[in-house]
Amino acid sequence: MNITDNLNKIKSTLPKDVTLVAVSKTKPVSDLMETYNAGQRIFGENKIQEMVDKYEEMPKDIQWHMIGHVQRNKVKYMAEFVNLIHGVDSLKLLKEINKRAKGYDRVIDCLIQIKIAEEDSKFGISAKDATALLNSEEFSKLNNIKIVGVMGMATFTDDMKQVEKEFKFLKFTFEALKDIEASNCKMKTVSMGMSGDYELAIDCGSTMVRIGSSIFGERNYNN
Ligand SMILES: *Cc1c(COP(=O)(O)O)cnc(C)c1O
Repeated sequence: MNITDNLNKIKSTLPKDVTLVAVSKTKPVSDLMETYNAGQRIFGENKIQEMVDKYEEMPKDIQWHMIGHVQRNKVKYMAEFVNLIHGVDSLKLLKEINKRAKGYDRVIDCLIQIKIAEEDSKFGISAKDATALLNSEEFSKLNNIKIVGVMGMATFTDDMKQVEKEFKFLKFTFEALKDIEASNCKMKTVSMGMSGDYELAIDCGSTMVRIGSSIFGERNYNN
């Protein structure tokens, strides 16, 4: 199977209202261009520097999503062009994104990363802390960011019952947060599901899937 075949096969199975983020981390620009030429315009990267390098090399009608953990001191490098930041998990980070977005006279869309995995290693905040954050006075003053939804990563396990439980929890959290009234918060996106579990994620209410290895092949971190 080549990359274009992989992409087309996945696209043919996705419902119309589910957005595909092609996760291209560690992959060369030539691989990304193959999917670009097949029509893909949304790419997800988890390292800011790598995303900046690819942004500079590739066509400018691409939408770049930052899907990894964001270090505050690197926000400035992507603020000019990033289309959606998935992994927002603190007011401190939101303030930095807001400040840098303002510098470019932009409003940057963000997702709140909710901790849904039972294992400890994952980033994200609790549903309760997210509610408090989005209702806070400080948040309401951030006019150069917009919260457009939630993102979550399930436990890395073969136990699909566990994964299903976590996805359902994220969807439930989204429904609860959706009612928050703020000019900089309009929830519409549930970003969940990767190569191994995106079909289950869609069944549980995902509107945005982040798929890497099923499109580009396994990643090799040694080169
Ligand atoms: C790498 C990554 C993905 C894609 O993983 P695959 O299993 O290769 O599809 C999705 N989401 C995040 C946050 C990632 O870091």
